[in-house]
Amino acid sequence: MANIAIIGAGNVGANTAFFIAERNIGSVVMYDVQDGLAQGKALDMMEAAPIRAYQYAISGTDSWDEVRESSVAIVTAGSVREPGSKREDLYLRNRDIIDDIAHNLADYSGTVLIATEPVDPMTMRFVTASGLPRERVLGLGGVLDSVRLRYILARVLGITAENITATVIGRHSDQMIALPEYTRVSGVPVSMLMEQTDLEGAIEETRRAGDVIVEMSQRASSYYGPSAAAADVCQAVVWDTHRVLPVSFVWDGQYGIDGVAMSLPAVLGKTGIDRILEPVLDDNMVATLSDSAEELRTISAQA
Ligand code: NAD
Repeated sequence: MANIAIIGAGNVGANTAFFIAERNIGSVVMYDVQDGLAQGKALDMMEAAPIRAYQYAISGTDSWDEVRESSVAIVTAGSVREPGSKREDLYLRNRDIIDDIAHNLADYSGTVLIATEPVDPMTMRFVTASGLPRERVLGLGGVLDSVRLRYILARVLGITAENITATVIGRHSDQMIALPEYTRVSGVPVSMLMEQTDLEGAIEETRRAGDVIVEMSQRASSYYGPSAAAADVCQAVVWDTHRVLPVSFVWDGQYGIDGVAMSLPAVLGKTGIDRILEPVLDDNMVATLSDSAEELRTISAQA
């Protein structure tokens, strides 16, 4: 029985399995609609095990029963966007896939992490279609935006990213909200270390990071960064670490918003979200969250 199931063994799914194996987080089973793909990639990774000292197995399966035995299910199934398109353009293409997976996981007792784009609407849809409690359905949003901001700040400041903490909340789109007050280098507010215009430049680069990768590579959306972020969330849940990471989840009155999924920092453990942290926001940030909520409702209401 594997700890972690990955549904969709494409670029994000397979690389997430790879990062999980590299960190010895737990055993992985991958599932894909494409015959043999999950099994083939699992075998390829296991053949690296003697060199990379993997302690846990990676396997492929065609069986939903095997997927349901896991304690974390990472959903990476679905289409990626073309250069020039937006994440929300994928909603109509990917929603049936999300519904199908949600129905297969309706009695799931573990925690689900959705990566499939557009991630916030898909997190909302998955909760509705599966009936699982909102605390156990997370979306891969703010955690990736935050790690991208950390990388960019590290590069600009010439400081290792390890010492940089950053929190990006809200919608996983160009409406994301970076929180300068909560962005620090070994506890020192980043605003003390760089000009305001440079900080704004780093935030703008973060906002566009996903688009730039799609434009550069032309063939695929990003997957190394997203896979590393997914493995990080997975580790916090499987190991019950109570680490704080910004994840998307369906809101229940946060900042006056109900029923839409966006990212906030959350304490993560074996039951999914243990506690939600609500940063202090200024009026502009709260207004952006309200606009994002309206847009997410519009995307989700498409017939
Ligand atoms: P990919 O095309 O490489 O892989 C997708 C895989 O899903 C394919 O192997 C396909 O056979 C499989 N699949 C399709 N329908 C399925 C189903 N019903 N059940 C099981 N498997 C199914 O794509 P990718 O690069 O791995 O991206 C996957 C998804 O993740 C996309 O929607 C992409 O936009 C999204 N993504 C999200 C983030 C994020 O930050 N949330 C970042 C990057 C990519």
